[in-house]
Amino acid sequence: MISEKYADMTTKGSIIREFAQYASKRAAEIGKENVYNFTIGNPSVPVCPEFTETLERMLKEENPLTLHGYSPTLGIMSVREAVADSLNRRFGMEYTADDIFMTSGAAGAIAHAIRCVTKPGDEVITFAPYFPEYVPYVDGTGAVLKIVPADITSFQINFDAFLELLNPNVQAVLINSPNNPSGIVYSTETIKKLAAILEEKQKEYGHDIYIISDEPYREIVFEGTDSPFISSFYDNSICCYSFSKSLSLPGERIGYVAVNPKCKDAKLIVLMCGQISRFTGHNCPPSMIQLGVAEVIDKTADLSIYEKNKNILYKELTNMGYECVEPGGTFYMFPKTPIADANAFCRMTASKLDLILVPGDSFMCPGHMRLAYCTTTEMVERALPLFEKAMKLAKE
Ligand code: PLP
Repeated sequence: MISEKYADMTTKGSIIREFAQYASKRAAEIGKENVYNFTIGNPSVPVCPEFTETLERMLKEENPLTLHGYSPTLGIMSVREAVADSLNRRFGMEYTADDIFMTSGAAGAIAHAIRCVTKPGDEVITFAPYFPEYVPYVDGTGAVLKIVPADITSFQINFDAFLELLNPNVQAVLINSPNNPSGIVYSTETIKKLAAILEEKQKEYGHDIYIISDEPYREIVFEGTDSPFISSFYDNSICCYSFSKSLSLPGERIGYVAVNPKCKDAKLIVLMCGQISRFTGHNCPPSMIQLGVAEVIDKTADLSIYEKNKNILYKELTNMGYECVEPGGTFYMFPKTPIADANAFCRMTASKLDLILVPGDSFMCPGHMRLAYCTTTEMVERALPLFEKAMKLAKE
């Protein structure tokens, strides 16, 4: 017998992938330049040159057995130290290497963090709109994902709905700021309020509640946006980071878990991550890539194009009549669709205009569409008349 659970999952494909595959099919038919593909969050700028230079040097000079060898289960010690030092320097924290676990991107980090603080049947709360992969990350642990509906006026936290969902079974709250898909960054006020509620509920329920903070877009924040470092506001916090977007390294699968040293079981949780990796078969990311990111730990790719693209799209789309909360970061925006049925709207723009967007239903927020503008500014500008046509077609 094969596993029914995973066999069943194969019949429920991702809508994001479906639209992305349609875009690839159209590109093969009519040429890539004629398809306006806003579907996938794949960075569009190269890694910083210092990373490439570091890898070239290491390949020439370092011992290949070290460079391509197994790394320790928790990650290479010097790399964990570099991560801790960087976080302390930048955010005034007190991490040590013992609080850091190296992972395969944010995906690996979140999947480990959830397993550390939940047991099957426990509840994890997250906030719509959210990254759809949270469903398998949580489901795979046996915990249950509960969704707080979106506050579509600001995409900050809908606290009334959150309070209604809180109960003694909740062991963790999974947040993502800067947010995929809304592009919104949680304000200091939002984080303080969330922390205060959880402090109170921990006392009321008599157990810890963890914030698992998914932060792959931490470095992509636009001018004038308040961008608090979440773990500095709440002791029981686990930061899940990825270099996928900041350094444009999604294919290298590199990130980390940083457990707040003020959390009572911090060191144990990191050791537990090592044990969890034995169950999942997730082993440490490649030694060479760990060593490479440690060398450029405070650098990013040139991320400025994302803000440039956001400025153009936000200004032009709102002028056309699209309603949108202005993103404070990431490379996504999440306008309302001109008709309530986002699926129908996105299918129409794809089939009539080769303008490929993703319906908000995928992120548990119907009536919206996600634009991933990690693309060239030239493509963004050429797409503008199509957004205008789409608005007209929707009104016909
Ligand atoms: N969390 C969010 C919100 C994301 O958008 C992504 C990837 O797009 C991930 C986690 C997974 O990141 P990684 O590729 O580093 O595993």
